Amino acid sequence: MASFSVQFLGCKVSHVDALEVRERLLADGHVERDGSADVAVVNTCCVTHEAVSKSRKQAARAARTHDRVYVTGCGANLAADAFAGLPKNVVVVARRSEETPEFVAGDVGAIGCVQADVRLDRVRAFVKVQDGCSFSCNFCVIPLVRGASRSRAAEAVLGEIARRVAQGHREVVLTGINLGCYRDRAAGYDLPRLVREAGATPGLERLRLSSIEINHVNDALIAALRETPTVSRHLHVPLQSGDDGVLRAMGRRYTVATYLRRLAPLQAEFNLTSDVIVGFPAEDERAFAATIDSVRAAGLTKVHVFPYSPRPGTVTAEEDSVSPQEKKERGARLRAVSHDACLARWRTKIGRDDLVLVDRPGRGYGDDYSPWLVDESIPVGRLVRVRGRAATEEGVLAA
Ligand code: SF4
Repeated sequence: MASFSVQFLGCKVSHVDALEVRERLLADGHVERDGSADVAVVNTCCVTHEAVSKSRKQAARAARTHDRVYVTGCGANLAADAFAGLPKNVVVVARRSEETPEFVAGDVGAIGCVQADVRLDRVRAFVKVQDGCSFSCNFCVIPLVRGASRSRAAEAVLGEIARRVAQGHREVVLTGINLGCYRDRAAGYDLPRLVREAGATPGLERLRLSSIEINHVNDALIAALRETPTVSRHLHVPLQSGDDGVLRAMGRRYTVATYLRRLAPLQAEFNLTSDVIVGFPAEDERAFAATIDSVRAAGLTKVHVFPYSPRPGTVTAEEDSVSPQEKKERGARLRAVSHDACLARWRTKIGRDDLVLVDRPGRGYGDDYSPWLVDESIPVGRLVRVRGRAATEEGVLAA
């Protein structure tokens, strides 16, 4: 039996990939341990240059406290040489996400299947339904490291959701790189049908989508979201830029007008959040101002701001004309807009009731994924009806 630790960097898909390795090692009879252990798995990210260097640092740190370190995930697939020069106990696993748990488990060695069903001590389960991406945005390295879009069979997804609920999870987040591409052609499923059936899982309290491209926000999906009672009133829809010229240069497949038109019917009901890249080479001050206007017009609240960073192998790998100072300054302006929009939404909850799923002591999320501060004595995992008393910097304070 080996002791192990698993860490991840980056997005929810990286999180799920790390959990899959973890579950496989637990199922093989190995034991998870914080701090030093026999084996460490570091599931890495490569979405920016900074993400790769953080991944490398984490692997180097793990190599000091573990006998063997497996470097997995996007970073390992993009540039194995980014991890060159690390101690000899670091193994870089440049494999597709589907093959990685098997490879790591095979290398560590099984001691027999002593734990068939692994309980994850979490309120929220991320269930991967799709991986890879067949869009080819000019800045994005994901299709290169994760390959083309592919989906899991609906039966496997629905079975996993039922298992997660039986293990005690109250909320499930359907996760993928480009979720709207979900298809199980043989069984006749697309994302709207999957949402309806996943949402009807007995015992499930809440269902969310990790993120959805605007191209996939159509009538069928909106109807499925509205008509499935467990679906949370939250959608994360990447905008990336609010300027048509920049969107074109990015190779995105929509205009700002399309983005706004498709989200307009959801604005009143859903909490809309997004990703925006600042400092893309085609972004001048006018284009950035258009992005700020679009963020406001779309009614976005939380915006995750990413300073542009050229990635090897992409169309814009050699382009980086906006200065680091300018990126920083634009990022700060956009974050300020997002901060004000979050506070404005939270203020609308004062004096109103919401159902909060408590996921940590004293904290949880409302039906539209707004953060709430609740009484510390409420047990984690409980869904409670609370009334908003005030909007604070960290979320809505319950009365
Ligand atoms: S949609 Fe574009 S940005 Fe998103 S993963 Fe695919 S290529 Fe990358």
